[in-house]
Amino acid sequence: MSMPAFKNDVAPARPKLISVEEAKQLDAGTVRDLFAAHINPGQLHFLKLLGFDRIIVDRAEGMHYITRDGRKILDFFGGFCSVAFGHNHPRIVAARQKFQDEQRHEICMAFMSQYAAALAKNLAEIAPGDLDMVFLGSTGSEAMEAALKVAEQVQGPARSKILHAANSFHGKTKGVLSVTDSTLYQSQFKLVENRVKVPFGDIDAVRKALEADRSIGIVVMETIQGGGGIVEAPLGFWRELRALCDRHDVLWIADEVQCGLGRTGQFFAFERDGVVPDVTALAKALGGSKAAVGAMIARRDIYMKAYGKPKSALIHAQATFGGMGEACISAIEGLNVLYDEDLMGNALRQGDYLIERLNQLRAKHPTLLKEIRGRGLMIGVEFQDISETMPFGLKHMVALLDDKLKGSLCGFVGALLLKDYDVLVAFTEYNRNVIRLEPPLIATREDCDTFLNALDDLLSRGITRIVTDYLRKVATAKG
Ligand code: PMP
Repeated sequence: MSMPAFKNDVAPARPKLISVEEAKQLDAGTVRDLFAAHINPGQLHFLKLLGFDRIIVDRAEGMHYITRDGRKILDFFGGFCSVAFGHNHPRIVAARQKFQDEQRHEICMAFMSQYAAALAKNLAEIAPGDLDMVFLGSTGSEAMEAALKVAEQVQGPARSKILHAANSFHGKTKGVLSVTDSTLYQSQFKLVENRVKVPFGDIDAVRKALEADRSIGIVVMETIQGGGGIVEAPLGFWRELRALCDRHDVLWIADEVQCGLGRTGQFFAFERDGVVPDVTALAKALGGSKAAVGAMIARRDIYMKAYGKPKSALIHAQATFGGMGEACISAIEGLNVLYDEDLMGNALRQGDYLIERLNQLRAKHPTLLKEIRGRGLMIGVEFQDISETMPFGLKHMVALLDDKLKGSLCGFVGALLLKDYDVLVAFTEYNRNVIRLEPPLIATREDCDTFLNALDDLLSRGITRIVTDYLRKVATAKG
């Protein structure tokens, strides 16, 4: 007797699925509903505050998003540095297209991948000193997890305590979450207990900690803090840190996920001080702004101590999607583009120009702008804290708004830059008075002027009009 293929011999109904073409056509209202129903309703709240939930992007090209209704939005956000090559860089798109046309393979769990090998070689060629061994993954968190693991594998349990910085951001997966300095993100999770925190950029605090506690075997820091509000350590800090780590036999992990890949005018931001860390990590734009690629790069002797023998080789070997074919091709082409188009030189030139002009704006609007900081195209614009200085009537109005908007101009400015000027900027995790500028490294002088003129024009409205315009045009607008 043959068994029926399905219960009661009735084939289950095909689930009602959205097709690719239908997905491309979804309107903002439907996407909002689906986001709330299936992705993250709480996050939608923040998008709504900024009016970002009303935008549906149809295409993206170079420095711009092009919306369904034909608006051309200048991208000074840059996906937190992921869009270094601009949107759909023609050379990177062509390399991917050719790879597809040739029907190359993607998954390479069984054989060696010529694409992963070539990418690893390129990264080793670029990275200074003996930073030669590369682990490929998909995200920054994954690269940083690999970094912590390789260091701990070398140091062993007795020296597994990690020193990290206040206001650090290294990702949200369980391991790196322990060294990401946010009580909100750390929430109620059981964290790695072996860790100690010092103020960022304070070499004396590092020295004291290392002298006092021999169990500290690992130091992990972003070379430039992104989530902390674009904060740099003083010149020479990394040189002193290197010396301290050498003296105490401590491994230094430089997180370059956000600041690396040429953004500061040098490939790695730590090159500013002419030193080499033991381990570093890249992600964000490494996939040519088209694919998800993260990389942990370790000094050869460190890597060999951790995983150099057949017995230890598989402890942290390539995961399923590490080194996918087209992702590696995108990264390889991206790295070539970076040098062929002198994007690092451009980052430095445009960055210097932006910082100079922003400082002029600060002099023009001293009650609104407090400080401009950064290097290359990683710039923080710190606004004055307006919670005390705001006119009384306005304070009253703002008091009724969401907590996120209180005491800070950034939300109003970011929302109005988009609404009235078609310019997109980013915020920071820990300092709500800072707007982050991380545009693609292909930005031209004209793009910088467009941004600067928009900001100047907006700030010239003055605080009262900025807030009331926000209330009128964004907070209460329909759509
Ligand atoms: N490290 C740094 C410095 C970062 O800025 C980020 C992401 N903002 C991460 C790690 C984590 O990267 P991902 O979101 O790709 O996991």
